[in-house]
Amino acid sequence: MEFIDEKIQIYSELHTSVESELLKKINRDTYADVLAPRMLSGQMQGRILSMYSKMINPRTILEIGTYTGYSAICLAEGLVPDGRLITMDINEELEERVTAYFEAAGLTGQIDYRIGNALELLPELQGPFDLVFIDADKENYQHYYNLVLDKMPSGGIIIADNVLWSGKVLGDGPKKMDKDTQALIEFNDFVQNDDRVENVLIPVRDGLMVIRKK
Ligand code: SAH
Ligand code: CA
Repeated sequence: MEFIDEKIQIYSELHTSVESELLKKINRDTYADVLAPRMLSGQMQGRILSMYSKMINPRTILEIGTYTGYSAICLAEGLVPDGRLITMDINEELEERVTAYFEAAGLTGQIDYRIGNALELLPELQGPFDLVFIDADKENYQHYYNLVLDKMPSGGIIIADNVLWSGKVLGDGPKKMDKDTQALIEFNDFVQNDDRVENVLIPVRDGLMVIRKK
């Protein structure tokens, strides 16, 4: 399901800053060589992540779900000069490719790229995280949220991607609801009822839940 009229979408993309040549290359390479390329954030969402990051000027960013590194590079654009971004992914097959992209972006010194299961890696991390992007397995969104929220300062921002799940969170499709849809419905309801935060669900692309810790 597309949430925005196609012509409005195209017009909006044409009036959104262009991505860097490196990001264009990562986009092209991902569609040419990597499984499930639609997971990549892309121009519009990438510019949104970059814009949020530049508004926040975070010292520490945490990303859960690196994939081919596109969103990490967008998020890193707003880091303070000596800031750092920790990103993690369970898929070791992409490690070499992603490491090369971070190097090409001149971010090797600022990005701490870890391979492993986020559920195991997150408890080891110290924080504080000023900006967190949750974009890994949908079933664990609520765990990730609870694991990071305590390690964030007041005013810290979490952005969770794909929270509309192509509209399936409405639960009105013909098929029985799958686990990912169920988990996202529970996540969205949990955040909505969580007094520790304020939140806004932005219906851009596949839905971005933007959450601010009070
Ligand atoms: N953030 C990227 C896209 C991420 S796609 C972008 O916007 O361009 C989701 C990623 O989550 C996949 O690469 C997948 O390997 C990773 N993932 C899934 N389950 C995970 C887990 N338990 N721990 C860490 N990464 C996981
Ligand atoms: Ca995503």
